[in-house]
Amino acid sequence: MPLQRPKGTQDHLPDGSPKLSRDVQASAFRHVQEVARRALERAGAQFIGTPLFEEAELVQRGVGGSTDIVRKEMFTVYYFGDHGGYVLRPEATAGVVRAYLEGGLKQLPAPLKLWTHGPMFRAERQQKGRLRQFHQVDYEVLGSPDPLVDAEAVALMWAVAVQLGLQRGRIKLGSIGDPADREAYNGYLRALFTPHLERLSDDSKDRLTRNPMRILDSKSAQDQDLIGELGVRPMLDFLGEDARTHFGAVQASLRAWEVPFDIDPSIVRGLDYYRRTAWELHHEGVGAKSALGGGGRYDGLAAQLGGPEVPAVGWALGIERLLLALEDEGVAFPEVQGPLLFLAAMDEQNVGLAAQIGLQARKAGRVEFAYRALKPGSVFKEADRRRARLAAVIGSEEAARGVLNIKDLKTGESREVAVSELHTFLEERA
Ligand code: AMP
Repeated sequence: MPLQRPKGTQDHLPDGSPKLSRDVQASAFRHVQEVARRALERAGAQFIGTPLFEEAELVQRGVGGSTDIVRKEMFTVYYFGDHGGYVLRPEATAGVVRAYLEGGLKQLPAPLKLWTHGPMFRAERQQKGRLRQFHQVDYEVLGSPDPLVDAEAVALMWAVAVQLGLQRGRIKLGSIGDPADREAYNGYLRALFTPHLERLSDDSKDRLTRNPMRILDSKSAQDQDLIGELGVRPMLDFLGEDARTHFGAVQASLRAWEVPFDIDPSIVRGLDYYRRTAWELHHEGVGAKSALGGGGRYDGLAAQLGGPEVPAVGWALGIERLLLALEDEGVAFPEVQGPLLFLAAMDEQNVGLAAQIGLQARKAGRVEFAYRALKPGSVFKEADRRRARLAAVIGSEEAARGVLNIKDLKTGESREVAVSELHTFLEERA
């Protein structure tokens, strides 16, 4: 048996591949990237690229030592048998903020909008919509504490989903307050759960000391039962004056812009650096527990990485989960176009000439040519299989006169075109 790809990864295969149900259709994947790129660049975001591996310490500080991501799901990078202290990035934000600080981007006009996309790595147990290598589109805005920036970020995530054709997504919006509010909430949770310590899962016993809020995020049924029984009050009840005003302003903007959302009083993002606004985009097609995307304000991150305070907000959309949701809604993707022209020679001595004409003609669009001589009937069959718009044949007689015989495969019409006129002819049809 040929070698197989690692568990929890997918190949991105070309259209027409027989095993697309297990894999990702590369053209659909690229369509998602392209729609996101357009929406984000129109909002003024510039592309930023960061390494796929980073210092383990960056991820520990950025994502938070108490998270499952850091404690259980890191891929460590070894080279020549040595541990280099590097990990594959599990998300993009920590790397983007590191690059912002390291690259002196604070000097650019604020707020600075950045976007990126690419693979992320988490050693999770594989299931539908949960991969070990998955891909995100990320949007980050650095340098403004303004609630309008949060609202715009939510609206942009929504716009990407809508522009992709998604109709049944729901935004769940919450706030996790300022650090003092969270401390108060964590104090409340500690007092509430401590008498029931023995009923918590081992992970949550640990969370109770490190970060009690994360117990609410637990995937364990045992924990969720206890949470239900105790009637835990939501974080929103603990918001201070400033966080409450900020949350109100975000909601007012979204309402004015007709971006639909539901308030989710229980929202707790798994990452430690979030402040105030937090939201997720959900869809029934990928299961209740799985979000298509998540975002929030993370004013505390830059300082946690050793930099100055930089107020910031950002989000990530999971491309594979978006594709699952779109598939669930039956959204069709634009088909990849075939070549504008498929070109072939009828005899061996003109194969090189056909190739040369083909190479030149690419200035006008996608042009492919045959590598062997073909009979006229096979030229049209080959052109058809490739879904070409036009098919051209060149024989000795045409070669001598400097012309091509071109058939429009849509209309069935054939005509002779001078090689010197080919560019104009193709441009008119591109
Ligand atoms: P997070 O960084 O955990 O907020 O994740 C942001 C988004 O990335 C999620 O909403 C998912 O769409 C996607 N995502 C996270 N983890 C995975 C995974 N293991 N497999 C596939 N997509 C994921």
